[in-house]
Amino acid sequence: MSRKKVVIIGSGINGLVAANYLSKKGFSVSVIEKNNHTGGACTYKTKIIENQTIDYAYGATVLGMMPDFIFNETGLSKNVKIFAPKHPKLVYFPDSKVSTRIYQDYKKLDKELKNKWGEKGNLESFRIDEDKVVDFIREGCRKGETPTLEKARNSLGQALTDLWIKGSAKNLLDHYFSSDKTKIYMGMTAIESGSSSIKNNGTAFTIPLMDSGSVFNGYWGYVKGGIWQISHEITKINKKIGVHFHMSSDISSIDSNKMKISFKKENKNYEIDYDYLIFATDPITPSKILKNKDLQSKIEDNDFLGTSGKITAFFKNPVIWKENSPYKNSDSAFRFIFSNQTLSDFEKSSQSVIKNSNDYSPGYIQVYAEGAAQRVLNNKEPFDKLIFFIKNIKYGKTGDQLNQVKEKVKEIMFKYIKNTEDCVSTEFLSPRDLNQIFYFPKGNIDHMALNENQNYNDRHFSKNIKKSFYLYGDYENIFYCGAGAYPCGSVAGTTGYMCAKQLKRLIDSN
Ligand SMILES: Cc1cc2nc3c(=O)[nH]c(=O)nc-3n(C[C@H](O)[C@H](O)[C@H](O)COP(=O)(O)OP(=O)(O)OC[C@H]3O[C@@H](n4cnc5c(N)ncnc54)[C@H](O)[C@@H]3O)c2cc1C
Repeated sequence: MSRKKVVIIGSGINGLVAANYLSKKGFSVSVIEKNNHTGGACTYKTKIIENQTIDYAYGATVLGMMPDFIFNETGLSKNVKIFAPKHPKLVYFPDSKVSTRIYQDYKKLDKELKNKWGEKGNLESFRIDEDKVVDFIREGCRKGETPTLEKARNSLGQALTDLWIKGSAKNLLDHYFSSDKTKIYMGMTAIESGSSSIKNNGTAFTIPLMDSGSVFNGYWGYVKGGIWQISHEITKINKKIGVHFHMSSDISSIDSNKMKISFKKENKNYEIDYDYLIFATDPITPSKILKNKDLQSKIEDNDFLGTSGKITAFFKNPVIWKENSPYKNSDSAFRFIFSNQTLSDFEKSSQSVIKNSNDYSPGYIQVYAEGAAQRVLNNKEPFDKLIFFIKNIKYGKTGDQLNQVKEKVKEIMFKYIKNTEDCVSTEFLSPRDLNQIFYFPKGNIDHMALNENQNYNDRHFSKNIKKSFYLYGDYENIFYCGAGAYPCGSVAGTTGYMCAKQLKRLIDSN
């Protein structure tokens, strides 16, 4: 019997992971990609500064959400070296004289939050309950299970399901904590990609979701050479196991009745047929290619807005932080700089870039010490790289048009750094850039916001979730597995894995 043909459109992490699993399950897999490189938003760029060349992460920077089984089963764990800082994360608010240390040991953390932020809530029960939800998420992903409220209730009970899965981030944070600073820190991921109101139902779920990766057991870290090594290595592995790549290819049309795809590459026309077609792009693109106007307008009604930006700063000497730390490798610690002191101001600044005309409303900056981490990983580079992941930037203008925003972010950050004169260059991407460079519909790094009706059991485009959560519209054999579907974006490949698992199960059951 001839092998079933799967065509995957898009070679970001989700397309690459789906290709890996399906190829190993015996399918004949072809990938069609419009760029001349794989990786999607997990890619790099090269820069020349003072006659020296350096590669840097163009889109994603840090690894964390990937499940350990994907890291191992794809073969990635044998090919890349990774590192997660053990140093406590360091948090600063506008009135902080010194950092608040986020210890991994919750008893130490409990003491720190009481001392620094006057926290009177119950960190221990937050951690215990979050761990239960994280275990539930991990188990569902591992099994490739369709996320349903019924499963959540059966596993977690009604109260935890209402609080952690159906409820709002604000309600969740108010339930466990008393101090606004703790609430802001613990809840910041609810707006990591967009400007979802923390009062919206369904936003609580983003908090455990962002802690559900298992490659570093819920923490985040770095890849030797840069995170794009993940895309490079899995592409190499896929080629070895027989996945066929059509790069720099423009799809002209898809005939879903005859199951044929026509595409153009270097001015030549090609046609390939499929038994199963998987889109690993943003969620709107498939409807456009399939010329399905009804589906397109329905999907476009969702919240796609992105409000995150990224600055990569290049230092000619290692960054020296004003606040010293006695611990080893302290310069690789994650740092978080908040501009709001109260939860209501945090919400106001996140909402203001939707409601008002200001281009930037400072919320928080996550600081990734990529250069320091590369030193720990024994990767020598000519410049030290510091990444500022920035909230909240209005969707509209490109980074080049937002010089004042870049300067403002540098002003906020440079208060914490001694050798600011060593910063010799910066690269700034706004949400609009993410749309233009990575084709994210409105610049959201999750393709589609993690918002009300777009999270957990609602994060799909299938008309028949009983058959598969990852089907696209009412097509029988067309699937969607990009970041817009459950669980979410990130360099994780979980959506690609779950889609592959459900497709295989569907075939086996027929
Ligand atoms: C600035 C930035 C910072 C981020 N930081 C992090 C981080 O630190 N850690 C983290 O885990 N995540 C981060 N993310 C998010 C993460 O990069 C994405 O969520 C993830 O890479 C999405 O993977 P994907 O495979 O679903 O889609 P994508 O990576 O978007 O891949 C989709 C692929 O489809 C291709 N494609 C699109 N249309 C077509 C078409 N018509 N025909 C053929 N091919 C097509 C695209 O070229 C692309 O290769 C960041 C993203 C950005 C942009």
